[in-house]
Amino acid sequence: MTLRNGQGQGHGEAGQQPPAGGQAERNSLGMPVVGMIGGGQLARMTQEAALPLGQTLRVLAASSEESSAQSTPDVVLGSFEDLGDLQRFAAGCDAVTFDHEHVPQELLAELVASGVNVQPPPSALLHAQDKLVMRERLAAIGAPVPPYAEVSDPEDAARFVAAHGDTAVLKARRGGYDGKGVWMLTGVEEARAVAAEQLEQGVPLMIEQRVFWERELSALVARSPFGQGAVWPVVETIQRGGICHTVIAPAQDLSEELRTQAHALALTIAGELGVTGVLAVELFEFRAADGSTGLLVNELAMRPHNSGHWTQDGAITSQFEQHLRAVLDLPLGSTLPVVPLTIMANVLGAEYTPEMSMDERVHHLGARFPHVKVHLYGKSERPGRKLGHVNVVGSAPDQETFEETRAVAELASNWLATAQWADGWDPHEGAPVGQFRRGGD
Ligand code: ADP
Repeated sequence: MTLRNGQGQGHGEAGQQPPAGGQAERNSLGMPVVGMIGGGQLARMTQEAALPLGQTLRVLAASSEESSAQSTPDVVLGSFEDLGDLQRFAAGCDAVTFDHEHVPQELLAELVASGVNVQPPPSALLHAQDKLVMRERLAAIGAPVPPYAEVSDPEDAARFVAAHGDTAVLKARRGGYDGKGVWMLTGVEEARAVAAEQLEQGVPLMIEQRVFWERELSALVARSPFGQGAVWPVVETIQRGGICHTVIAPAQDLSEELRTQAHALALTIAGELGVTGVLAVELFEFRAADGSTGLLVNELAMRPHNSGHWTQDGAITSQFEQHLRAVLDLPLGSTLPVVPLTIMANVLGAEYTPEMSMDERVHHLGARFPHVKVHLYGKSERPGRKLGHVNVVGSAPDQETFEETRAVAELASNWLATAQWADGWDPHEGAPVGQFRRGGD
């Protein structure tokens, strides 16, 4: 039997949510229907995880062309900003969850009031929707964050920069993603000008200290309404132009102390904020003047996250399966890695769409690197667009395996994006002498 919220199972906080159970229709075999708001690749990949669990994933997408709408027959076309569309979509769902955090709070409140089981609850999601609210809450619970301030006047930004060594990061409080809505500032003049320009356009702003970090990490955890938590290994994330490009799982040479701290932080945040489902806590690892290292929280995402795509091929339970389990209040799956190393690299659209079709690129990739796992999102190609990713697993924890796995992930993702082998590989001749060489043997 499936455990459902509010059905007298003694599920801790779950009892606070009005049960949707009475209205949930389940699929024709009596299995759960999970609704995911969003047409993107996260919903598409959640569908991939729903299938073997016997569940139905319903998506709310803007058009049938969208990534998630291609993957499931249960598509409701509509807008996440329209209450009528949201209600039509949510009717009969055992739980409603998200592939992005842009659904307005007022509409979520209406859904909850009408008995829809929204997971994560809107009160938690708020912290992933508004960076200032998130910073304030994290500071209140003692999580380490960079110094920050609200910016409601250009002078607020100017003052902050003057007080913090002439550098700072201005951020749109809401709606930013992939580095959009983030401005690295140098100098008081620039701070004043950029803040004035954005405030004039009605963008609510905050500012924070620029952290000269050593690397970026992500602590991915899941939490169920019952309160069960699970953590995957802490990973390193590498961005290009503000967009996540490579993820190394686990982060190499991470001290035991920081690993423990990262996990404890992520679980504490999940518990304190009442997060359910997958929570990604993006972290900065920095080195203090005395040489010691520490962590600061950058961002929260309450949904499957790019830093967790490696789990599809590198862990017993993927983040997508775990998210489904968590929002349905099922027991969580094991998060143990199945290999010593997994490297994920995003396929980001090239400046010019290559002449060679994606189909042919996949074909050639398979011939050269049969062990590379390809995940494409069914999107047309545009510069910088996330078109898919590759996962490459390494069978040993040594440096040679690390370097080879990383090189293959880089070559493969770049090949899929550009139809160019960066090492000069020729399918008939192989790579030039002295370059990386590994055939499809
Ligand atoms: P988004 O919501 O677009 O992902 P983030 O707040 O995560 O925006 O910022 C995007 C990237 O900008 C981060 O991954 C990091 O590389 C850089 N960044 C953000 N805040 C800071 C900061 N305070 N100091 C240094 N770099 C930062």
